[in-house]
Amino acid sequence: MTPFYAPPSFTRMAEVRLYNTLTRTVDRFVPADGTTVRMYTCGPTVYNPAHLGNFRTFLFEDLLRRTLRLAGWQVHQIMNLTDVDDKIIKRASDRGLTITDVTEPIVDTFHADRAFLRIEDAEGYPKATEHIDEMIDLVARLMDRGAAYQAEDGSVYFAIDRFDGYGKLSRLDTRQIRPGARVSHDDYSKENAQDFALWKAAKEEDEKAGAAWNSPWGRGRPGWHLECSAMAMRYLGATMDIHCGGVDLVFPHHEDEIAQSEGATGAPFSRFWCHGEFLLTDGSKMAKRVGNVATVADLREQGVSAAAFRHFVFSTHYRKQLNLSAEALEASIEGVRRVGDFADRLAAATGATPELAEVAAEAEREAAEALFDDLNAPLAMGALFKFIKRANAELDRAGNDAGAIAAARNALAGINGVLDVIPDHGPADDAGEIEAMLAERRDARERRDFARSDAIRKELEDRGIAIEDGPTGTRWKRAR
Ligand code: AMP
Ligand code: ZN
Repeated sequence: MTPFYAPPSFTRMAEVRLYNTLTRTVDRFVPADGTTVRMYTCGPTVYNPAHLGNFRTFLFEDLLRRTLRLAGWQVHQIMNLTDVDDKIIKRASDRGLTITDVTEPIVDTFHADRAFLRIEDAEGYPKATEHIDEMIDLVARLMDRGAAYQAEDGSVYFAIDRFDGYGKLSRLDTRQIRPGARVSHDDYSKENAQDFALWKAAKEEDEKAGAAWNSPWGRGRPGWHLECSAMAMRYLGATMDIHCGGVDLVFPHHEDEIAQSEGATGAPFSRFWCHGEFLLTDGSKMAKRVGNVATVADLREQGVSAAAFRHFVFSTHYRKQLNLSAEALEASIEGVRRVGDFADRLAAATGATPELAEVAAEAEREAAEALFDDLNAPLAMGALFKFIKRANAELDRAGNDAGAIAAARNALAGINGVLDVIPDHGPADDAGEIEAMLAERRDARERRDFARSDAIRKELEDRGIAIEDGPTGTRWKRAR
């Protein structure tokens, strides 16, 4: 029997599931208020251009925000910029500069690199140095509640044994690190070796670099963990929906963020904690101190497009490690070329078989289901390539269903709206112009003016367009 109601679209049926580090299970996700996902993503420390490892994490977060929107929610994302920390101060004092001199150009590079990789803008990029008041307030609340103390060295520490939940994110208990056990540590002024600094007493070099502020506990500067807690709660309230970062942030950074925030408010700090795995080079984590970093500048120099790098990153699940290699990038360059050719072909097509609409609907559903299942981008990518193969076969058959073309364009736009893997065209050429030249060539051939038709082919080839005459007309694609 035919149903008398229209089946709901896949987005209305969407059940988004995400792996939550807090529960260690894949849990159903819905924003607390039912409409807007409030998420915080730990941003870069701006003393060096972010490397591709950092960008793997930021791309995972971009995938997350785009998937959440595909599911029908709004997203309010905050990404902090850590513009005061040990490394920044060291860089500034080595060069006789202030921390702002060091960080300002790097912030610009970060935004340019992010734009190059098509990472969507977050709703806010607060800087730590512009939120010192909020940080001091948070320390004051923790002092009032007896969860923090000022030590002999003048710094203020969080007392982890006065917060019951300490260790719940990183599962300290199962890792056999007892917070109460004193480990040998230089920092004798702390009550407990694992207590961490909320507010660091200013040293001479902090003052010189412009990295010291007044506080009720004297001149000093915020600890790194404190920055994120204060800015997250300032922009997202006491409880947010999702907090993200790379896996190396689980402990101590995120554990300490939880302690400070929940220690001050008594409310759960984040409902979901999502962490992306590392990018490796030659088997080790890409990291500045290992000396194996590559940057967006390197990608651009080597002619690796944003589309190709996104393809490379999204071809592995975000919770698996990923090794950067020239071969893998090469394969991604080839892969996105196929996507680009297909997009061009769809843009130029005027009609197709009705089956194309079915192929498109199936691709859209498969890709969305994969993404909603803990961001399975590799599976979504597979659905996209299967779609391209099947749709190309449909387009090879002559058809005049314009609706089917529209459906295919929509499906491609929907899937690509999340993955964003269609390479940019060269600046001068566009599909319409190429189509016009092909039409002129067709006319020339009909007139048997082969000199003219050859000249047009040559002109197209010079512009990097390869053409192929077949039984259903002429196809073209962009050569390398
Ligand atoms: P940082 O600037 O060091 O604070 O790092 C910014 C973000 O990049 C954090 O979420 C880190 O967890 C993440 N990150 C650092 N190294 C890597 C790596 N090799 N692969 C993936 N993510 C990383
Ligand atoms: Zn953070």
